[in-house]
Amino acid sequence: MQNFDFYNPTHIIFGKGRIADLAKVVPADARVLLLFGGGSIKKNGVLDEVHAALAGRTFHEFSGIEPNPSYENLMQAVELVRKEKIDFLLAVGGGSVIDGTKFIAAAANFEGDPWSILEKRGSNVTSALPFGSVLTLPATGSEMNNGGVVTRKSLKAKMAFSSKHCFPLFSILDPTKTFTLPTRQIGNGVVDAFAHVMEQYMTYPADAPVQDRFAEGILQTLIEEGPKALATPDNYEVRANIMWCATLALNGLIGAGVPQDWATHMVGHELTAQYDLDHAQTLAIILPSMLRVRKESKRAKLLQYAARVWNLTSGDEDTRIEAAIQKTQTFFEQMGVKTRLGDYGLKADSIDTILTQLGAHKMTTLGERRDVTLEVSRKVLELSL
Ligand code: NAP
Ligand code: FE
Repeated sequence: MQNFDFYNPTHIIFGKGRIADLAKVVPADARVLLLFGGGSIKKNGVLDEVHAALAGRTFHEFSGIEPNPSYENLMQAVELVRKEKIDFLLAVGGGSVIDGTKFIAAAANFEGDPWSILEKRGSNVTSALPFGSVLTLPATGSEMNNGGVVTRKSLKAKMAFSSKHCFPLFSILDPTKTFTLPTRQIGNGVVDAFAHVMEQYMTYPADAPVQDRFAEGILQTLIEEGPKALATPDNYEVRANIMWCATLALNGLIGAGVPQDWATHMVGHELTAQYDLDHAQTLAIILPSMLRVRKESKRAKLLQYAARVWNLTSGDEDTRIEAAIQKTQTFFEQMGVKTRLGDYGLKADSIDTILTQLGAHKMTTLGERRDVTLEVSRKVLELSL
């Protein structure tokens, strides 16, 4: 096992009816800014519940945080925070709203150009406003981690950042609030959580059996529960299990002490920035090809994955590995997320564009062995056509 720090201060408040707990966990004397997206929380009653819990408090609202939140829009919120002397942020929504809130929290009192927070991947963040979240879409794990992803639209740059100052103080997870999700977002969420586990598990063996078994448990649960979430959209237990899987997939636990990959995410971010694909769509396209192209360096773990997650134990090694990757791809398709660039209308001419952007963002030595060069990324993209 590798050396590690594990630090996660986020208080998780899980279950039916828990939005009412905001009354207890939002500091009583705070000047609060409520942040949300395009209006789903108005339609499904979540906003009403939040208002009821905050009755009698001073709060402002900032709506319109987009999927794949933009730097340009978030800077408007930063202005509002400064003008109204806001000292507590409350994100209500999916990963985009929570990620956007993290950036606003870090940028509000930042001295210097806030864009540098993204250029420096968060390493220059020295403080952030305190914030909490009400999660409505299980997918990103943003509700219990310290990372965020923000897009500067004018540059077509989608950049990840993280900072120890950017953990939510609390996150409220009420699985009933996911009943109104469109099937596309359920599929996206399951695929994103699955990919998060794979980025931390599908590396090279690190003598970390408990991390491996946690990872395999989350993968198997997503494989079992994902299709049920599509088939029975108001099944509480199914949604509860998926919600907790997505949180555990990226809250630091399974990634402690093991090598981490993240090449699939980094290539995927460029696809979203250029062509506006959903985050999970990019992962469903890239992950299977990434595993095929890097089969040799991941061989031992791919065989373990085939045996333990997909119960594939007969046939020679290469046959088992290919069958496991094919099953992964079929699972994404079963969740309604297409797995080829061509399914989204993208052709071979998109590949050079993506490679240029990867180069511009210094994404030229990715992966747990830093061996995913632009040439390797080219092969992955070609195999994804
Ligand atoms: P999202 O972009 O937050 O939301 C997608 C859509 O779902 C929005 O249109 C939203 O509508 C809608 N929605 C959310 N909750 C709903 C509900 N309960 N009922 C009906 N509609 C609902 O999706 P996401 O997948 O959670 O977040 C994606 C972003 O997170 C990407 O930018 C990705 O790169 C990033 N990400 C972050 C991390 C991390 O660790 N921080 C990890 C992976 C990915 P409204 O706008 O109306 O709310
Ligand atoms: Fe992700």
